[in-house]
Amino acid sequence: MELLELLASCIEQGRTSIAPTLSDGMEHERLERLRQLGAMTQARAQAIICPRCQARSVRVITAGSAFCAECGQVALAVKDMQRLSPDGDWLRRRIAQALDLAGESAWVAVPGRVWRIGDIGRAGARHRVLFGQQLADVMVQRALLAVWPTHVGEISTIMITTTSIDRVFLPGVRVRLVPLAAAFRVRGGGLVADEAVWAGAQAVPATTNQARYGPFALDFRDVLLAGESEPIPLTHSQAALLRVLWEQAGASIRGSLLVRMAGLELEKPVDAFPLNKYPEANRAYRTLVRSDRRGGYWLPRKSLDDSA
Ligand SMILES: [Zn+2]
Repeated sequence: MELLELLASCIEQGRTSIAPTLSDGMEHERLERLRQLGAMTQARAQAIICPRCQARSVRVITAGSAFCAECGQVALAVKDMQRLSPDGDWLRRRIAQALDLAGESAWVAVPGRVWRIGDIGRAGARHRVLFGQQLADVMVQRALLAVWPTHVGEISTIMITTTSIDRVFLPGVRVRLVPLAAAFRVRGGGLVADEAVWAGAQAVPATTNQARYGPFALDFRDVLLAGESEPIPLTHSQAALLRVLWEQAGASIRGSLLVRMAGLELEKPVDAFPLNKYPEANRAYRTLVRSDRRGGYWLPRKSLDDSA
């Protein structure tokens, strides 16, 4: 598991305390790296499993000792009491720095769950950036929708989240969800923005008379869906597949031939659009590309004309 995925899963589990001594070798190493970065902070356990009988949960009374109903007073080693907690302030500060928003302070939208990090882009193509955690709870989603008009507003919004995005349903608002681990990478002591994810959002808006192939850029490296203002960046493989489909002018082509013509080695075209890594490109693929049970793929004329 990558560092930011591990951090995201620690935050999502709502574990305020992770016992590094209970983690396996690989995870232990990554927790230690997160601790060095400042993403996890050390804390003393309030309650632990009794180190003598391993059966009862005991409360730590003073540093170095706890009381167990079974064993009486038991001595604790330092490692028994050592815990790590994700540091949300660290994460939100580093997100802001990676997006050049370090001067702005994060506003709380939903306490403990959603923060407003700041705005990126230029006039006419501004995007509000939010960070959300533990959003899978329907009550949290409702709370967020309730404060949306006052705390977010009528603006294209990007929400970075540690929650699995297929568990977040926010109907009626303009929001693009980006998993934390897709949006940023750990570099040095902080985070850097993933270019593919943020390029479209921070770039100077394209002039309206710029020629495109229907919804696609001339080099097929981005796609603009109907009714949206922000192009979705595509990888080389994704661009190659969509270029071949575009050149079929609405006709169906067999999946295996499509993959071969794109110069790729994949079982299915959709394999170039993994949901967890490229959620937006996956959404574009599912919006535009049709397939049938006989293994045929095509870009319907209508959706292309609408976007052109
Ligand atoms: Zn005990």
